[in-house]
Amino acid sequence: MDTATTTSPAVLILLGPPGAGKGTQARMLEDKFSLVQLSTGDLLRAAVAAGTEAGKAAKAVMEAGDLVSDEIVIAILRDRMAEPDCAKGVILDGFPRTTVQAEALDGLLSENDQKISAAISLEVEDAEMVIRISGRYTCAGCGEGFHDRFKQPAVEGKCDKCGHTEFKRRADDNAETVASRLEAYHAQTAPLITYYESHGVLQRTDAMGKIDDIASDLEGFVSDALR
Ligand code: AMP
Repeated sequence: MDTATTTSPAVLILLGPPGAGKGTQARMLEDKFSLVQLSTGDLLRAAVAAGTEAGKAAKAVMEAGDLVSDEIVIAILRDRMAEPDCAKGVILDGFPRTTVQAEALDGLLSENDQKISAAISLEVEDAEMVIRISGRYTCAGCGEGFHDRFKQPAVEGKCDKCGHTEFKRRADDNAETVASRLEAYHAQTAPLITYYESHGVLQRTDAMGKIDDIASDLEGFVSDALR
């Protein structure tokens, strides 16, 4: 990738409901463009596992499929973005999820003379989301994503990427919680599509198709944004 002409690190945002493929696509872009994937869901799950104050406050909210408070999420994101590896450029996966978070991100970036390179909306239908979410699981070793129907490991029980043989499913990937997560998406996150459209950085992609086709759409957007 040629980053010689970019004046500041890339900041890419992946927007879309739970199950749209943000994590899968973010990992592919991370490899391809040497960027850092930054998932607030992963950061919050790590905080819950570590039993930090933020984790304790977030646990029940996440189990219910609701959004964690803006204050907690913005603080976690701000700390993570201050780490040196983020100087390579970031792909935000699952952040921002509210207008307050989007405005906080704008403020944080302007403090550092940075701006959003592109916000990509992964567009999908709710019914498809429930199918996708209920079948998904990840490698316990490297986090590579798999799916009961759409993406099984090439060798049964063994991760294609790192060879690990243990896998895990998320506690909030059940039908009841998924319904709340979709509701939170439509009520609080979907308005960000208009927000980024009005800022002139929005790209939309039909994310109902094959993972590789969606990835090639996204690579096109990202290449253009980094030019
Ligand atoms: P995800 O892994 O992105 O699906 O996020 C899992 C859960 O973490 C969500 O259902 C929320 O409870 C919480 N979460 C993740 N990112 C955010 C965010 N930006 N704002 C509020 N809550 C979040």
